[in-house]
Amino acid sequence: MKNGFARSLNQWFNKNARQLPWRETTDPYKIWISEVMLQQTTVPTVIEFYKRWIHDYPTLESVAQAPLERLLKSWQGLGYYQRVRNIHKAAKIFVEQYDRRIPEDMEALRKVPGFGPYTCGAVLSIAFDKRQPIIDANIRRVVMRLLALESHANAKIDPAIYAYLDEVLPQKNLRTFNQAFMELGALICKSKEPLCSMCPVKSHCKAFEKGIQELIPTKKERLTEEIDVAIGILRHKGKYFIQRRPADGLLADLWEFPGGKIEKGESPEAALRRELLEELSVDIKDASFLTKVRHFYTRYKVNLYAFICAAKSLPEVHARRKWIQLREFSEYAMPSGSAKIVEYLRLTTRG
Ligand code: SF4
Repeated sequence: MKNGFARSLNQWFNKNARQLPWRETTDPYKIWISEVMLQQTTVPTVIEFYKRWIHDYPTLESVAQAPLERLLKSWQGLGYYQRVRNIHKAAKIFVEQYDRRIPEDMEALRKVPGFGPYTCGAVLSIAFDKRQPIIDANIRRVVMRLLALESHANAKIDPAIYAYLDEVLPQKNLRTFNQAFMELGALICKSKEPLCSMCPVKSHCKAFEKGIQELIPTKKERLTEEIDVAIGILRHKGKYFIQRRPADGLLADLWEFPGGKIEKGESPEAALRRELLEELSVDIKDASFLTKVRHFYTRYKVNLYAFICAAKSLPEVHARRKWIQLREFSEYAMPSGSAKIVEYLRLTTRG
């Protein structure tokens, strides 16, 4: 049964795999970068980011030597900036401690920032062909259906998933097997309307046998919190004021416009005036509403109310607070909500 499973899956993959740029290489560095990017967004988006990244940073050394500010800017649009900070730290470790190579063993990799079980397993199996099971959202869903596990997808069921993977994992050609499993989840065993008639492993699938594949994983109510935030775009002599977030914590080291949360019962403009006074000791002279931008961040739905403002006095500037011109925004990494506001400014402002 084990051999039959792997053989069927690998044969299907060899005929049906999508041609993706990171599948044309076994370079551990490139596999690693693609896997980190794939944890954050869809394959079509990753293709563009991946090609650009590999063009700009073709080797581990080029990442290790690049200033963090530049890497953050290259990552803009992918979100989860802690990941690119970890890539920077990890690249330095590989260059300085491992002679410019990514080590081939789990114990060494797990000590490197950003190398959790999934990233370690993906790099070890796909780049080095090691027998290493991996669980991503696709694999978890497929195995849940193969086992007819009637639960919502969560980490608590991972021991059962690992046990199953260990049973079906072949002794060689792991590179193909793990990618084939993920590809099966992406193309055939999709979260909605799985294409069971085309599935190469349907004879092993308990959910298909019972006709409950579409009920697995069970739905979990997603709790989303909505937050309203007022943002001040201070303009003075054709320049805009931005400030850098603290080096630790949420969206660390990114640049943003000043502002803050709108309290219950407060208007966006009143919140803006209060926040800028508290944050920068700045009194707003005029504020005119520019745009409202909505974006999602983890479990938060954030509404940003952006105002163009003139202040009675200018805020103090230092290394983490600057006045910049509109064309200079492209040099500063910003969270996606602020970046959308900059796009709007570009479209509506001349010069
Ligand atoms: Fe998924 Fe259907 Fe294949 Fe089972 S038979 S693994 S539910 S696609």
